[in-house]
Amino acid sequence: RISAVDGAIGAFLDVDADKALADADAADAARAAGRADGGAPHELTGVPVAVKDLFATRGQVTTAASRILEGWVPPYDATAVTALREARLPILGKTNLDEFAMGGSTEHSAFKRTANPWDLGRIPGGSSGGSAAAVASYEAPLALGTDTGGSIRQPAAVTGTVGVKPTYGTVSRFGVIAMASSLDTPGPMARTVLDTALLHDVVGAHDPLDSTSLDDAPRGMAAIVRAARAGRDLTGLRVGVISELDGGEGYDPGVMDSFHAALALLEAAGASVETISLPHLDYALDAYYLIMPAEVSSNLARYDGMRYGLRVEPASGPVTAETVMAATRGAGFGDEAKRRIILGTHVLSAGYYDAYYGSAQKVRTLVQRDFAAAWERADVLVSPTAPITAYRFGEKDDPLAMYTLDVTTIPANLAGIPGMSLPSGLSGGLPVGFQILAPQRADNRLYRVGAVLE
Ligand code: GLN
Repeated sequence: RISAVDGAIGAFLDVDADKALADADAADAARAAGRADGGAPHELTGVPVAVKDLFATRGQVTTAASRILEGWVPPYDATAVTALREARLPILGKTNLDEFAMGGSTEHSAFKRTANPWDLGRIPGGSSGGSAAAVASYEAPLALGTDTGGSIRQPAAVTGTVGVKPTYGTVSRFGVIAMASSLDTPGPMARTVLDTALLHDVVGAHDPLDSTSLDDAPRGMAAIVRAARAGRDLTGLRVGVISELDGGEGYDPGVMDSFHAALALLEAAGASVETISLPHLDYALDAYYLIMPAEVSSNLARYDGMRYGLRVEPASGPVTAETVMAATRGAGFGDEAKRRIILGTHVLSAGYYDAYYGSAQKVRTLVQRDFAAAWERADVLVSPTAPITAYRFGEKDDPLAMYTLDVTTIPANLAGIPGMSLPSGLSGGLPVGFQILAPQRADNRLYRVGAVLE
């Protein structure tokens, strides 16, 4: 399937077919041996998975879609990748993304662009656009992505697939190339809620190698989905519609129609629906675009031409640590990475720190308090995943136009809470995503509600 369609889709940066086939044979053997022993092999044993090229894979090139890491072969696996290998899910290859996961369209990859399988002239979302496109085009049944400000949920929304950003700290960040460490959350992507749950159960576990890993990661998501599907009953569930994200300027009318139709389905299943205001969400986007670049500027400082990947010597003049670093970073980072590094170092600099970074951290606390208050009244909160459907390549060339579209997904990252996007229908022939949010560690609620809506 990959050789048939990926020339047009461009979901993958690297495919190792021989290795994937060898893994599949090993999985078959493990299944047979497991059966012979009377044991039950893992349900996903032998089911192939596509992995965003932000996860370190031992022996397989990992680039973060950046020239600065071109050709880098990690000597170790990310913990989430180790989990895939232990459950014997063959890894098909590494998927395209916006450079270092910075963007919402996968147009900011240093290597190529990925097309939306629904319309090849449109973006697949981002930054996990390669993973979403691989799943939507039937190149892979499952994929891993990462979500720092919406990068799992938004590409899932615009490709008609399911994506989950788990509770921060419940899927290990170890071996996932860092963008903004206090926000980065790896998670599962698939075509159905159950498939997403099955993959969530493989990768969601405590990891002593990640200092922010929680020791009580929620388990058993697939069992929740199966139980919810059997009953299809949401009686007693309190659903809160976030009033700040319930349409208005910038939202497609077709997206809002699809959103309200999904709300009616929740009510029909017995849930009560109430509108709830989270007043500080109006400032969440601004806070994110200060905190995120601050962390980016710190995390990307390690690409200095000495330790990893690219090394460029200056065209003229002395070759010193400083000139090599400047030449390497100048040649190795794309425009979006440079923009965020400059913004981040500015907001962290003496004299501006309190005004920008300090204020943004205060807003983050206020957003967290808004959510805490909302959970007194609702079990889950809902909104459209993205204000619009997939746009045409080049349509959002102005960075601010792209950033603004993150307004619906960013609050969950600031609060560390789990979120799911699942398809709610079409608008103008393009998929629309429905977003469900839940309190920290209550990822099970996303799956319960998602299973009934699907
Ligand atoms: N689109 C957002 C950004 O550009 C989110 C990216 C992400 O979640 N990795 O920062």
